[in-house]
Amino acid sequence: MGHSEKLFQKAQTLIPGGVNSPVRAFRAVGGVPKFIRKGKGPFIWDVDGKRYLDFVMSWGPLILGHSDLQVVRAVTKQAKLGTSYGAPTENEVQLAELIKAAFPSIEKVRLVSSGTEAVMSAIRLARGVTRKEKIVKCDGGYHGHADSLLVRAGSGVATFGVADSRGVPEELAKLTFSIPYNDPEALERLFKNNAHEIACFILEPIPANMGVVLPKKGYLEKVRALTKRFDVILIFDEVITGFRLALGGAQEKFGIHADLTCLGKVLGGGLPIGAFGGRKKLMDHLAPEGPVYQAGTLSGNPIATAAGIATLKRLRNPNFYKELDSKSERFYEFLDSEIKTYSLPITLNRIGSCFTLFFSGVPVTDFRTAKHSNAKRYAEYFHKLLAAGIYTAPSQFEANFISIVHKSSDLNQAGKMISKTIRML
Ligand code: PMP
Repeated sequence: MGHSEKLFQKAQTLIPGGVNSPVRAFRAVGGVPKFIRKGKGPFIWDVDGKRYLDFVMSWGPLILGHSDLQVVRAVTKQAKLGTSYGAPTENEVQLAELIKAAFPSIEKVRLVSSGTEAVMSAIRLARGVTRKEKIVKCDGGYHGHADSLLVRAGSGVATFGVADSRGVPEELAKLTFSIPYNDPEALERLFKNNAHEIACFILEPIPANMGVVLPKKGYLEKVRALTKRFDVILIFDEVITGFRLALGGAQEKFGIHADLTCLGKVLGGGLPIGAFGGRKKLMDHLAPEGPVYQAGTLSGNPIATAAGIATLKRLRNPNFYKELDSKSERFYEFLDSEIKTYSLPITLNRIGSCFTLFFSGVPVTDFRTAKHSNAKRYAEYFHKLLAAGIYTAPSQFEANFISIVHKSSDLNQAGKMISKTIRML
């Protein structure tokens, strides 16, 4: 028995399912999760010493790769000065400035400790400002595990086929409308009948939690126009896309400004952090300035902000995204040509450095079409790649991530192995 198996056995006696976040348990693909001992650059090593080229990258935060030298230095330097004070710090001001500079739609920002918290707080703010209680999300959109958002959610919830989590009061779930992504008519119909009760529309501008899905031409523009017309607050959940697709996230890439933006992941360079921000007028409804309460013992934590500052400073290099995206694009082009040459029943959705290989021959444009994928085949593929030393998302309905330290040679090799694996399934 390997060390991962032993640890997993013990973990299951101590932690529900042996994990602290469900998708880590490999339930969607079967088998025993690898327990990880260390990460360096684009690689991770499990507790049995096996090395993997990592495409999960902590589910998105590690755009600079594992244990980036500057991030590690910033973290250790800060740790020596103290780990938390419960009082304001210069780091928070610096990070807020960096966020504001990256996102023109953000005049003020509040730091929290996770994406879930960012979204939960942004929704409360939208409800508090508008004095309306209903919210709208997209089918298959995942926004963390706050009660109101566990309705037709993606990510781990999609994996387990749970429409709603137990424990979410029905009265609360009833306040959440869920509509298909990429369907502006559905949004318009909903607004026509219900906008007077709707505080906000929250969406991942580029969904990545049903696997990566791209907006149809004009969709995001239409969403912006409709939310304006019907006076509904538009929240972009850029927890994945923020600092990932561009410094200013999907908003920069598509030239659209949200009213409120939720951030996380890359923002903390691998440490726990989240943020939400928007126009000053909206944000000043938050306590202590305004009547919407929101707080956190570890919010704006000095170590997390130090890691965030070190990360964002690197991303400001004008060539950063050019290099990351062109390296990623060459990898996708190779896969595209293999898919064509061998008529593989695969749909490769990608944008910048995130991608999903759907085991489906039809285009994937929303949650319904994503669910056409053959998740069983995906599981076989996943385990063959894992055995070959490539660690991809342990579920069909997730994004994979490329970092700046994935070398072209690593990606070439991985591309060949991915193609070979699919051909031999
Ligand atoms: N929003 C999106 C788009 C996410 O992908 C996630 C996490 N995968 C969250 C919110 C929740 O973030 P966290 O896990 O940090 O609470």
